[in-house]
Amino acid sequence: MVAQGKGAAWLKLDLLSHGIQIGESAREVLREIRGIAKRKNFYNSPVWEPGGTLLPQELVVLGCIVGVNAYGSSPWLLERASSRPELVLKHNTGETFDAHLLNDLQVFNNSSRAARVANLYGGAALAFFSPRACYFFADGTACAFCSLAGTAEESSEFQGLLTADDVRFVVRAALESDRERIEQIMVVGGNMRDLDRGFEHHMELANAAISELRACGAENKTSVHVATMPPRNLELLNLASDFDNLHIMFNLEVWDAALFHSICPGKHKDYGREGILIALDRLSRIMAPYRVHSLLVTGLEPADSTIAGATALANMGVSPILNVYHSDRFSRLGLSIRPSFSYLATVAEGLQDLYARFPIQPYWRTCGRNAIDAEAQCGLFREPVPHFLFGGA
Ligand code: SF4
Repeated sequence: MVAQGKGAAWLKLDLLSHGIQIGESAREVLREIRGIAKRKNFYNSPVWEPGGTLLPQELVVLGCIVGVNAYGSSPWLLERASSRPELVLKHNTGETFDAHLLNDLQVFNNSSRAARVANLYGGAALAFFSPRACYFFADGTACAFCSLAGTAEESSEFQGLLTADDVRFVVRAALESDRERIEQIMVVGGNMRDLDRGFEHHMELANAAISELRACGAENKTSVHVATMPPRNLELLNLASDFDNLHIMFNLEVWDAALFHSICPGKHKDYGREGILIALDRLSRIMAPYRVHSLLVTGLEPADSTIAGATALANMGVSPILNVYHSDRFSRLGLSIRPSFSYLATVAEGLQDLYARFPIQPYWRTCGRNAIDAEAQCGLFREPVPHFLFGGA
């Protein structure tokens, strides 16, 4: 993780709580400059306006990567800077911070095929999203926070279903053009109704990435991460390869059993919370401990419930992942929920305590724009809260 300035993790929490207001001068800058990693609408798309693809996916503030969630009014205003870097973030108390943009990968300029099938997260994760659909939407049982159907419809230039050959092609091209930047390869998606086929599909894509990393001698530096639904046939979990740098995530999204029912009706109906826990337990015995993960969306349930869930997962040998809820356009919950700074601080400190007790691992090493795991692992929430944020709780 790059060195952070004092209080960086607390700033990140406040930015994730309130979002960032994009000032007119910042919009001009974002229209003028070329080559930055822009939001591609692969998955999340905050409340924004037509032309929102001008938004950068993330900003780097005090060395910390934070997702750009634009919800309209916020204490944080992004504006043009008078000198480099081009942008500054101004808090309504008058505090001002340089805001750095991340450059996109060269491979996306060099290859239209790569730009159609992959994305860049946090400046360091080459991400493949497949399929760009989830059958829970067809069934009316999509997760309440998910915006996949709307975003996929809005940005049809991206390929809907990827092949192993697509992944091999892009990984090889990206290692040729951007080798030093790629820390992680992500395979993520919606879900096929045939969950066994869906799991096999994601493992085929992951294995294609692994074979290409090995062929290019990059297997020790770059990890491969799969976020998927577990298969019905748990024997398929044995497809998890012996690649040391493979991580697999089955997401519970919320820990509380009643909320799981209402937030994730499709997962509840078709697989069940207990089923996901059984699959996580089984996979954690197949893979090395703590390379199996489950994400809890932070902000959808009381803080003590999220912490209880993260603790229970850690006790199982599963690394919890805490991703702060972002209010996506097209999602059922949308702007109805916004976790406060004090709520996020409680969860962050609880997670940090877990990192002191268990060898749990972040899913995103440095590039977790809405995740707070890497900051908790580094103990950054032990630093004092910057004085100007006390009014923001
Ligand atoms: S499982 Fe839920 S979060 Fe994942 S793509 Fe389907 S609806 Fe969205």
